[in-house]
Amino acid sequence: MNAQKVLDDLKRRFPNEPEYHQAVMEVLESIEETYSQYPEFEKANLIERLCIPDRIFSFRVTWVDDRGNIKTNMGYRIQHSNAIGPYKGGIRLHSSVNPSILKFLAFEQTFKNALTTLPMGGAKGGSDFSPKGKSNAEVMRFCQAFVLELWKHIGPDIDVPAGDIGVGGREIAYMFGMYKKLSKEFTGTFTGKGLEFGGSLIRPEATGYGNIYFLLEMLKTRNIDIKDKVCTVSGSGNVAQYTVEKLIELGAKVVTLSDSNGYVYDPDGIDSEKLEYVKELKEIYRGRIREYAEKYNCKYVEGARPWGEKCDIALPSATQNEISADDAKTLVANGCIAVSEGANMPSTPGAIEVFQNAKILYAPGKAANAGGVATSGLEMTQNSIRLSWTREEVDAKLKNIMQNIHAQCVKYGTEADGHVNYVKGANVAGFMKVAKTILAQGVL
Ligand code: NDP
Repeated sequence: MNAQKVLDDLKRRFPNEPEYHQAVMEVLESIEETYSQYPEFEKANLIERLCIPDRIFSFRVTWVDDRGNIKTNMGYRIQHSNAIGPYKGGIRLHSSVNPSILKFLAFEQTFKNALTTLPMGGAKGGSDFSPKGKSNAEVMRFCQAFVLELWKHIGPDIDVPAGDIGVGGREIAYMFGMYKKLSKEFTGTFTGKGLEFGGSLIRPEATGYGNIYFLLEMLKTRNIDIKDKVCTVSGSGNVAQYTVEKLIELGAKVVTLSDSNGYVYDPDGIDSEKLEYVKELKEIYRGRIREYAEKYNCKYVEGARPWGEKCDIALPSATQNEISADDAKTLVANGCIAVSEGANMPSTPGAIEVFQNAKILYAPGKAANAGGVATSGLEMTQNSIRLSWTREEVDAKLKNIMQNIHAQCVKYGTEADGHVNYVKGANVAGFMKVAKTILAQGVL
């Protein structure tokens, strides 16, 4: 396989999709060597079959705001691959959503889901509707209108959506309610549901907790204790909140949080009480992170990201391409020893190169944030057997899955000098599983 040629061809066929090209390139570069060892892959044109989604749905979503104005948004579902299980992946509601972003996320999701060891294919969906500043009633009407179209394409054994940016428990409940009404069935078609109607304990915590379980495995390879380590976290939504919660529990010190307007720097560290305030601020009052700085009298930097603040460990948990090459250089120069990605593709290619050259511990989102979808997989299992597991049971399974993903990364990513290239490890492990399955199932 000639990775550059494959990419050039995709760029020609699907122009103006930079995030999709970026995600594909990262995978192609790191699997090229392994791929070449399997002539049967090349013969079956596996690479193109894996880069191009099975199908893409796009549709208009029409809804009415509180003043009676009729609004339109675009809705999408990208079903990337169901080689190893039903399509599975989140719904993103954010003004920036477009086919390129969703194609990159669905592509990544396919390999991530393969890494979890659970039987789930890859998908992603969303809309350019932003819940920010909307009333509950507006969010409900939008979610219902979105599902009015989406429901035709999903089902418990077909495609199981979940949350992502802009989609938490409130939005999943509205979507699930509408799906249930239209399909006339009570099934586990969405994950991230409320506990009262089929949700799983630990699902809200899973991405953040899972990221820290993965980080602990990485630190163990270098005999580093997480206690008292200074951590910078970006974002202040679901992933960021539970990342901070686990870090506090383990005795680390978190000094930053952010949102799309800016970041806060709290040199005393965010403790449990302050974290509760953030959860309320974001989940109930739907406020801005600036208000944290006002309440706790600390620094707020408008329009910036937290990577200039000195830290031992960085945990990007907001969005794609939020760490530039220059940010990465600053992090490394300031003594950062580990970067573990809660968000999807938060580091630019230039930033990844800086981390790899510095040989710090660097975990790509595909591996480090897989705990979210893994626990969604556990929610699907509980729905299928119509039983609920305890918090301890789900947490133990999550920990086990993250340790297993780490072991796969070590197996496929250890280089001659002993350094673990987690990007290569995760991509090769995920790819091999999906590739072998596609080959076995014939030309489809
Ligand atoms: P939330 O919507 O709960 O929180 C997102 C946070 O990131 C908010 O603080 C938001 O700020 C900030 N943010 C969003 N877009 C931007 C932007 N363009 N620039 C700066 N800040 C931004 O989402 P999640 O916490 O669920 O998701 C965060 C990341 O984690 C995403 O990359 C997602 O794909 C990834 N992820 C999530 C999983 C999950 O289970 N939820 C699973 C695996 C990965 P604001 O409020 O101002 O928009």
